[in-house]
Amino acid sequence: MHPKSNYIRIKFDKMLQENVNLKPFNTFGISVRTKYFAPFSSENALKSLLSEVKNHELLILGGGSNVLFQGNFHGVILRNEIKGIELIEENDQNVILKVGAGVVWHDLVLHTISKGWGGIENLSLIPGSVGASPMQNIGAYGVEIKDVFESLEALEIATGKLHTFSHEACQFGYRESVFKKALKNKFVITSVTYKLSKHPQLNTSYGAIEEELKSRNITKPTIKDVSDAVIAIRQSKLPDPKEIGNAGSFFKNPVISLSHYEELQKKHENIPSYKVDEQNVKVPAGWLIDQSGWKGKTFGNYGVHKRQALVLVNYDDAKGKDIVQLSEQIIEDIEQRFGITLEREVNIIL
Ligand SMILES: Cc1cc2nc3c(=O)[nH]c(=O)nc-3n(C[C@H](O)[C@H](O)[C@H](O)COP(=O)(O)OP(=O)(O)OC[C@H]3O[C@@H](n4cnc5c(N)ncnc54)[C@H](O)[C@@H]3O)c2cc1C
Repeated sequence: MHPKSNYIRIKFDKMLQENVNLKPFNTFGISVRTKYFAPFSSENALKSLLSEVKNHELLILGGGSNVLFQGNFHGVILRNEIKGIELIEENDQNVILKVGAGVVWHDLVLHTISKGWGGIENLSLIPGSVGASPMQNIGAYGVEIKDVFESLEALEIATGKLHTFSHEACQFGYRESVFKKALKNKFVITSVTYKLSKHPQLNTSYGAIEEELKSRNITKPTIKDVSDAVIAIRQSKLPDPKEIGNAGSFFKNPVISLSHYEELQKKHENIPSYKVDEQNVKVPAGWLIDQSGWKGKTFGNYGVHKRQALVLVNYDDAKGKDIVQLSEQIIEDIEQRFGITLEREVNIIL
């Protein structure tokens, strides 16, 4: 063997861990194993890893908060740990930040709040990494990542080349981007660039933010106040993955035609909806699941959360396959009752 390739081999072997249990690396807490596990903390490390693992099945993992493993993974899991928050431009109005894909999302939120830069305070406490934030255009309380997104850099797996994606190229939609569709499993996002405001317009009209601020006697909220309110609301509503395994909302809220909605209203007077455009409305999937009697249903060590019908949970060492099967039963039931096909938000692996 050429001495240089021998060096790469040794370096590569050091980066790879074998037969690793993924339980600590997915918020569902599913205990499965991966053949290889390779954390990387720089673009160069990723490049050399990619050149070595070409023939294996690959999965990029951030915080593991939007994945459900159905069984052991027989390839290589590449865990993004590229850090760094870089201020690359600043004027009186805005800042532009380039952030490593492995930065923990909520750490970025807290950093921007401490600097007084607004735009992502409503997205406080969403688990996971910066690199995954454009994947499904994360959103909460009336804000989506697309609202502050400038561009991202991603390494093409097939060529090892770095590409820059503009806002338009990412094709953001509701919990969607090109990386979940046409470019699925083709790129590793290495950094994301966001534009934040020094004079932010607060968005407190969603969910219970206004009520929460009122209960705290806050009349002129700052971005920190909004973030604190969002954190408190989320903590009271959503199960903490450290206590009960879950991946947040399991399903997307379905968008249906206005005529379909009006038809449903005849039978279900109180069916809630949010306007999407002149022809379509969004219906809360949690309401549909709740109405169908699934909320709180438990099947041994897994089930539907008792307060949040949209959240499927692993109470104790459940199998990913069982949770997927439960989601299929729910989809079928909702289809029969309402003629609506729910789509999963969580990425099912295998
Ligand atoms: C309690 C809880 C609450 C949640 N609330 C919300 C919410 O309010 N709004 C919301 O939008 N989401 C929410 N989520 C879902 C989740 O937090 C987000 O989808 C988050 O962006 C996932 O980040 P992650 O790093 O954990 O991604 P992972 O789960 O590691 O990966 C998710 C997908 O992205 C891919 N991926 C990850 N990183 C990269 C990368 N660098 N390059 C290429 N592909 C990559 C993976 O292959 C996988 O397909 C919640 C989850 C939990 C557990």
